Amino acid sequence: MPNLACMKISGFHKQMGDQIHLLTEYSGFNEFDKVYLSKVFTATRYPPEVLKMENVEYGGTGFYLDQAPELPYEIEHAMPDYSLYADWLKGKGEEGKKSKKYKYYRDYSIGFLTRGCFRQCPFCVNKNKTVSVPASPVYEFYNPQKKKICLLDDNFLACGEWSALLGQLRETGRPVQFRQGLDIRLITRQKSRELASCRLDGDLLFAFDNIKDKETVIEKMKIINPIFQESKRIKFYVLTGFDADGRYDWTFWKQDILQAFERIRILMGVRAYPYIMRYEKYQESPYRGMYVNLSRWCNQPQMYKQMSFREFCHLSKEGSACRTYLEEYERDFPEISSYFDMKF
Ligand code: SF4
Repeated sequence: MPNLACMKISGFHKQMGDQIHLLTEYSGFNEFDKVYLSKVFTATRYPPEVLKMENVEYGGTGFYLDQAPELPYEIEHAMPDYSLYADWLKGKGEEGKKSKKYKYYRDYSIGFLTRGCFRQCPFCVNKNKTVSVPASPVYEFYNPQKKKICLLDDNFLACGEWSALLGQLRETGRPVQFRQGLDIRLITRQKSRELASCRLDGDLLFAFDNIKDKETVIEKMKIINPIFQESKRIKFYVLTGFDADGRYDWTFWKQDILQAFERIRILMGVRAYPYIMRYEKYQESPYRGMYVNLSRWCNQPQMYKQMSFREFCHLSKEGSACRTYLEEYERDFPEISSYFDMKF
């Protein structure tokens, strides 16, 4: 994804008549009056010494998690500079012009219509606000030259003005994607109908992070399915590898895999697709390979749709890592077997 904070900072400075360059390496900082560094993910690496440079300003959840300072008002509400990545994209040649990999750099207006969320999920960096409120009207970030709109809202449906905001989106006539997913627990018949009346881009995304929500997911899908009637693929982010109690012991790793399969079973039952999200701690699991297998199966919808987990793993040769992970887990926990054979 392009970095929206950098695009807004660039947009603001261009309005002020400043010259802007996108730096893609950590060098040459001294040639600039000011260098901005923005980081979304903690895992993104950088040379720590650059943060001490006098002309460097840095921010974002990748540096500060939930304590990240907000952008100043005039930057937050500046039109993003959609040309910031233009030269970089040109350097990608034909791939940059066509590949799906670069679509957000090329084809989308990007922004937040709302900010904030009341849920306070333990794995989420959105802890500073306890309500979802309007943030930017669509005209603040909508560029008519872009074919589509990508929204990064935290919890769009929790905002009281959701209906009016959907109206703003409809007026643009552009297909819209709720990139962070929508809150299935807040779905009503009216919300589903109004969402269906928008041009939605790609899959309709929700999250099924906690097995405790299983009844809700089933009930809400009874509302959604007749309204969308398979005109949209309904997909759920399925978080794995996160232990709210922070134990990360053997019992947790066993239960986590079993519960992920149980959530997938429920989603299959309501004709929805899972998208496995792996919390970085999964790398410490003795069943790390199962997380990789599970993601490879679920996150390729054609595979998930056509074959069971076992069939998918058996596409690999006997003795391959993929098959070994499956066999070892099944040997340790035979109760998993029926999950391995379920089909969409
Ligand atoms: S519902 Fe989504 S945005 Fe809200 S706290 Fe949970 S994960 Fe974060």
